Amino acid sequence: MELYELAVKRAGAPNLAEFQRREGLPPTGRLDGAAWAALLPWLTGYRSYRVAPGDNYSRIAARFGTTVRALITANPNQDPLRLYVNQLLTVPLGFDVVPTDLPFTYELLTLCLEGLAARYPFLTIRNIGESAYGRKLPQIAVGLGPRRVLYNASHHANEWITTPLLLKFLEAYARAVSENGKLFGFSAQALYQRATLHLVPMVNPDGVDLVTGGLGEGDPGWTEARRLAENYPDIPFPEGWKANLRGVDLNLNYPARWEQAREIKFAQGYSRPGPRDYVGSAPLSEPESEAMVRLTELTEPGLTLSYHTQGNVIYWKFGNLEPAGARELGERFAAVSGYTLEDVPFASGFAGYKDWFILTRDRPGYTVEVGAGENPLPLSQFNEIYTRNLGILTLGLAEG
Ligand SMILES: [Zn+2]
Repeated sequence: MELYELAVKRAGAPNLAEFQRREGLPPTGRLDGAAWAALLPWLTGYRSYRVAPGDNYSRIAARFGTTVRALITANPNQDPLRLYVNQLLTVPLGFDVVPTDLPFTYELLTLCLEGLAARYPFLTIRNIGESAYGRKLPQIAVGLGPRRVLYNASHHANEWITTPLLLKFLEAYARAVSENGKLFGFSAQALYQRATLHLVPMVNPDGVDLVTGGLGEGDPGWTEARRLAENYPDIPFPEGWKANLRGVDLNLNYPARWEQAREIKFAQGYSRPGPRDYVGSAPLSEPESEAMVRLTELTEPGLTLSYHTQGNVIYWKFGNLEPAGARELGERFAAVSGYTLEDVPFASGFAGYKDWFILTRDRPGYTVEVGAGENPLPLSQFNEIYTRNLGILTLGLAEG
């Protein structure tokens, strides 16, 4: 399924031409500018609406298939009892913004964040840097509490299923906050007052776009990746791609015994830029890993979760370092998810984000490896992955 097909489906139309006809556009079945403009609200999940005579929140909600509560949340500075004609309102539409049935490109990430920011204005979204090919790296902050936690996903390109995992959690959390509801049994408002959550849902957008089709053949990044992949002809292209588009494995690029990682990976044959396992020319040689370090220094989280997809385990140590409380919390994560709490194998135990965080902060940091099978994991695993991780993601806010 493509982006426009998702929008057509959400709009309840059988095909693009019929969608265009319903929108009063020429039913050409072609994706021109007017068609995209009409499709956009069905991707972002909101539209701007000018109040008409006789409108009130109940009538507007009924007309757009949403709720009065959602309207109040999306328009925090408007008084529902003092609407005036032509006043501009943000109207959330009656479906979840974050889709779980199509590959996550950077464009889709951007659309989701635009939509979530409009529907939940208490989310703060900013960029923490730029990728090697100039994609902005978004970070979302949510919560008012003094405890800080940082969750990140998609360091590795072909592990992009972790991006919708964090976004889906963000959407569920934001809705629960706005509805005074619960999240995995916890009061969302209590979590919101306790902790500030920092999310980096796609650390490696260039690499993700290579794997998910966001980059076309002939795009400069695609061409460069194709060239670097020739160093490693046995690795499938682009599905085997984990690195950024300069061929550096971002989760081997942190200053946590990086030289040791280099020695191990060179001995395994990963001595040149390529799809995976190349550590880079120096620690933090890449803008994506550098941005993560700067964000960590800025926010000084008490807990970090780094999402990956290799085998239903949780890694919690760096060498022999065991931050205080890390084992106990890790055991609770294991209990709510069914994942196993394990020590990292020696050969992959260095220069990762979690390694750097534990080494330099001595605070609990985890790598959560969701799912099983060949990367990229199929979206058919998504619901199970989400269910297993909802407890971890919520406990992180409650206990981190
Ligand atoms: Zn990974």
